[in-house]
Amino acid sequence: MPRSKEIVSVSSDIAGLFGRPKDVAEVYSDCQKIVDFGFEVICWRGINTNYFDDVRSLGLRVNGLHGLVSAVRESYSGSSLANRIKGRIVDGLMVGTNRLPELSTASRASYVLIHQRLVDSPESVNHVAEATHGFYRDTILMVENVCNRGSIDKTVTAVDQLSERGVVAGVMIDLVHLLKDMANSPDNLSSRETQKHWNRALSMIDSVAGRVKTLGFHIPIGLNQSDSLPIETMDRQLWIQFAQLLAKCPGVRFKTIENQRPNARTPFLISRQEMTLLKERNYRLLSQLKEAGVI
Ligand SMILES: [Zn+2]
Repeated sequence: MPRSKEIVSVSSDIAGLFGRPKDVAEVYSDCQKIVDFGFEVICWRGINTNYFDDVRSLGLRVNGLHGLVSAVRESYSGSSLANRIKGRIVDGLMVGTNRLPELSTASRASYVLIHQRLVDSPESVNHVAEATHGFYRDTILMVENVCNRGSIDKTVTAVDQLSERGVVAGVMIDLVHLLKDMANSPDNLSSRETQKHWNRALSMIDSVAGRVKTLGFHIPIGLNQSDSLPIETMDRQLWIQFAQLLAKCPGVRFKTIENQRPNARTPFLISRQEMTLLKERNYRLLSQLKEAGVI
């Protein structure tokens, strides 16, 4: 059984750019038999308190808020012109750091998340630390590692610097970003590559767990191959090793399922036919994660 202080969430990323709460709830509705979960809400620029009210009216909690990323500067975006343009669009659509206090208070989320590239200079650390003064009293700031080489170590450093400034902060380890950091390549992960780098990734998780007080995990199981694990072909044993390691780490607080659809589908709402397929897939994959002891 998960320790009671662990908080399991599903990301609103599955429901397209603007992630309607009722679609997120429906696509995971069968999974409530498997695990008790709330939402990690992707905070697009247009978000307001109505969104949180809608989540609550569905009988669900807002556990986490996903704030700004820096897609332009993260290596998975690649350096082609098309990717730079896409990165700029994504960055431009996300809420700015200045809105995080208001959203933290309105949602009473357990955590607010930003990517490591947002806190990679003394000025940016100070700017983010300043914003956290306005957070709801129980909201923790989580910093997520990105794909760039060495990002995981930089994430721990940033969390140390934030803690020195009195911020309650932790590390959110994204498994895909960590494996790409270990592989030193932004390429999509095959099951062979995943297997090859898994042990080094677990050693790194063990090391990070010894260096920070609060730890969370992004577990990306989506169909967008550029930002998801090859979960359909991964050896079950890898998940068991991961679960056994986490069970030994007292600082693990958050486990969040990310689940992006293919890029071409992301701007659109989930169709009825797609909903049926995704619901079945989510139930099957979350059952496997539960069985392996991950959630
Ligand atoms: Zn992530």
